[in-house]
Amino acid sequence: MMFDLVVQNGLVVQTDGSRLANIGVSNGVIRAISSEPLEGHEMIDASGLVVMPGAVDMHVHFSEPGRTHWEGWWHGSRAAAAGGVTTVVEMPLNAIPATTSVAALQLKLEAANGQSFVDYALWGGLVDNNLTDLPALAASGIIGFKAFMVDIKDETFQFTQGKILEQGMLEIGSLGHFLAVHAEDSRLVWDCTEALQKVGRTDRAAWNEARSPAAELEAIRTALRQAKTTNCPLHVVHTSISEGIDEITKARASGQIVTVETCAHYLVFTDADLERLGPIAKCAPPLRDAKRQDGLWERVLNGSIDCITSDHSPCPTEDKTQGDDNIWLAWGGITGIQSLVVAVLSEGQKRGLSLERAATLLSTNPAKIAGLYPQKGAIQIGADADLILVNLTKPWTLEREMLHSKHKHSPYVGLEMQAFIELVLLRGKPVARGGQPQATPNGRWLRRSVMPKTQETAIEEGKKNSASRR
Ligand SMILES: [Zn+2]
Repeated sequence: MMFDLVVQNGLVVQTDGSRLANIGVSNGVIRAISSEPLEGHEMIDASGLVVMPGAVDMHVHFSEPGRTHWEGWWHGSRAAAAGGVTTVVEMPLNAIPATTSVAALQLKLEAANGQSFVDYALWGGLVDNNLTDLPALAASGIIGFKAFMVDIKDETFQFTQGKILEQGMLEIGSLGHFLAVHAEDSRLVWDCTEALQKVGRTDRAAWNEARSPAAELEAIRTALRQAKTTNCPLHVVHTSISEGIDEITKARASGQIVTVETCAHYLVFTDADLERLGPIAKCAPPLRDAKRQDGLWERVLNGSIDCITSDHSPCPTEDKTQGDDNIWLAWGGITGIQSLVVAVLSEGQKRGLSLERAATLLSTNPAKIAGLYPQKGAIQIGADADLILVNLTKPWTLEREMLHSKHKHSPYVGLEMQAFIELVLLRGKPVARGGQPQATPNGRWLRRSVMPKTQETAIEEGKKNSASRR
């Protein structure tokens, strides 16, 4: 049999282990994985390289339409492609209008169409006044809903709490869908922020003090409690504290449907880096101390954390530098999609993260949570040939001019990486080579195909299987 493409002699990373193999691809889909030689019209030699599934980044903000000057689909997806992220799931906020109705979803789809270098799926938003929009949004193919439990002082995306959040959860649960929450307790955060501002604090550490681990933990507990009473499957985004993960693990053990992500920046940087780097490292929840970071890594390695995302949330450079001497004035968000995979692999090497576990966290589990598995998320027969060829013996340093985001700033600049992505294939076609995006935008919109309750079962099953193999 003649394949369109064969990727040969690479160390192929699959959930159950890594092995030297050849991958046969036809029509953009993986058709064979074999230790025997395969024949293809096109041959790619992956000798000495690791072949991983393209990353599925469940947490990105491309801010188009409406705030295209912050990033936009073109720039954001090029950065994704360069960094080995072959599927992005784009958040409902920062774009204007926010994706809180089907009409707004249509506008976002129009913006993305023909501009994305990688495949994409979309989140819908739950805000304080769109209960009646939820059924139509759910039916439109969004992968899930996202809500803020903390006031972000952005009139384009209102936060929800108490009764309103509960009504949203009730509706989303009854639709068979799931809700992702940004968990920080609004009252605790704002009481503390106002107190710090009142005494004239403008330093970087004040940001961390305002957004305490206690405020995050309180919101996680509230979300778990409300999701339980309303029978709503829950996903907690960008968790930065190990105590929060433990609450979620406990809830899961008691039968609640809940998944959790952390972000690469919590695994790579600490509060000392905010002090050192300033506003480009400002995010919410904030970077935590080294002890909490160790706690997160422990839970990454033991499987308590389901996935790692970038929470790529770019902005114009001035929106960062204006906070150089007054941290409150800086935009809170990190430009990080391009470095997600290499940063996790690099730091992971020091921490004992296996390639299989990395692939699970960066691809398989997020694809499952987003309802995109098995089309996305793993190197297996029948899956899209989204492959990244990684060189683990080529240290390099990320430089500002290598960034493909619209605005060239990121806390990851200057970081020495232990993994270099040589080639990125989307459905069997190169979308980036040596960190350079290739070709023209060819990304497709992906709709949710499997509902969350079934997906959760899939993740749990996967865990049991890998536990029994140990
Ligand atoms: Zn975000």
